[in-house]
Amino acid sequence: MDHLWTPWRYPYVTTSGQGGECVFCAAAQAPCGRDSLVVHRAARNFVILNRFPYTNGHLMVVPYEHSASLCELPDETLVEMIRLARDAEKHLREIYRPDGLNLGLNLGRGAGAGVAGHVHLHALPRWTGDVGFMTAVGETRVLPEDLEVTWEKLSRAFQSA
Ligand SMILES: [Zn+2]
Repeated sequence: MDHLWTPWRYPYVTTSGQGGECVFCAAAQAPCGRDSLVVHRAARNFVILNRFPYTNGHLMVVPYEHSASLCELPDETLVEMIRLARDAEKHLREIYRPDGLNLGLNLGRGAGAGVAGHVHLHALPRWTGDVGFMTAVGETRVLPEDLEVTWEKLSRAFQSA
């Protein structure tokens, strides 16, 4: 069963995260547009693409507040987070027609969080028989979609919601 959890362990890595700067806090303040990878900004959370996706359409719901634990977040933020996860599910189903989805949180490095200091909820479409996205590249029919294309599709979907 362990392999079922590997998507959660896939780290969110970016070159802008070096030097102790939190990549999510940086993204929260970045100008709108493709470069930020942010596809939607709500009142208390934003939705951002994973720069190194496990599958096409891999996104994350992230509170603006820099917090390592759900316990530190207000109820309003948590409610909006799960509502955005629901919207993400809806859009990912419509756009990517997956066989299922993984939705979840890694809290702390020991649980595989790539950015342990800032809570983020992963949402990614899955297909029966898909394997690790990165290992599949070059071997199978699974091909990575250009992130700009993913951004266009998902930002449009969130806008029209
Ligand atoms: Zn942060």
